[in-house]
Amino acid sequence: MCGNQLFINGEDAVSPLSVDLLETVKEMNFFDPHIHMTSRTTDDYQAMADAGIVAIIEPAFWLGQPRTSAHTFKDYYSSLIGWERFRASQFGIKHYCTIGLNAKEANNTALAAQVMELLPLFLHKEGVVGIGEIGFDDQTAAEEHYYRLQLELAKKARLPVQVHTPHRDKKRGTLRSMEIALEHGLAPDQLIIDHNNEETVEEVLSRGFWAAFTIYPFTKMGNERMVELVKRYGAARIMINSAADWGISDPLAVPKTAALMKAKGISDEEIRLVTYQNAITAFARSGQLDPQDFVVKAKVDQREKFAGNSVLRGGQQPRIDKSSIIIS
Ligand SMILES: [Zn+2]
Repeated sequence: MCGNQLFINGEDAVSPLSVDLLETVKEMNFFDPHIHMTSRTTDDYQAMADAGIVAIIEPAFWLGQPRTSAHTFKDYYSSLIGWERFRASQFGIKHYCTIGLNAKEANNTALAAQVMELLPLFLHKEGVVGIGEIGFDDQTAAEEHYYRLQLELAKKARLPVQVHTPHRDKKRGTLRSMEIALEHGLAPDQLIIDHNNEETVEEVLSRGFWAAFTIYPFTKMGNERMVELVKRYGAARIMINSAADWGISDPLAVPKTAALMKAKGISDEEIRLVTYQNAITAFARSGQLDPQDFVVKAKVDQREKFAGNSVLRGGQQPRIDKSSIIIS
């Protein structure tokens, strides 16, 4: 972890703010609507819980190397609604996911066609709050084809859509993603347009879509820039996430940015909206997301098992909340 350093950006921070992160955010609850926990460790879960992250959404994505069979997609989706959801619960974090065929792998059209047949089997499972992350990577015809098919699925299932916008030629990709969704008759507020920056935010907000920002070191957005964006655009329909994954990323990006916003004079209510409430409102239309499930803290007992396995390995001592009546 980065200690007390709150800045997340590509360059050396000019004037490091020395703030006690946990002290600053101790009364706050956070919802990280985009994080790939499959790639993260139990230490991350523990640090996230300590920093006030009460719930997360894990979008289905590219695993860093291309899959060679639809079966591995099936197992991956199953783990998002199964083992990973359970693993999060063992740290007191409520886990939701979005299911979809990512843009990169849409280009393997033979495989993509098989994956499309799997998707309907998962969309109505417990904890699935949308279709995602889908959209454009290289902006190819195959990507567009599978994006359109998945928008149709979302329309039929009345689910929110989590849209990945491309790193290259971002503005064009973002505009196309929104135009195509409107063409298919989806409501703008059914889509969460992700990985925005200063170049795209205005177009997204003015069309009535949700604008998500990924605070990710070196590439997407630093959190000092994020503070400036909230100062300029306010908090309506804006949310932030970490998109932490197998790359150099920061699973505490949301609480760190909240602390930085506080230090920079953003109001508590605006911080609450962009780090918690807006994501809940956006994904609640799935009917699967009830804040009561994470506002009231579930008791943690790490001896619990999922399909016969717990998060503990031989001889490890479990974390059991003090209020638990179990004596071991
Ligand atoms: Zn992602």
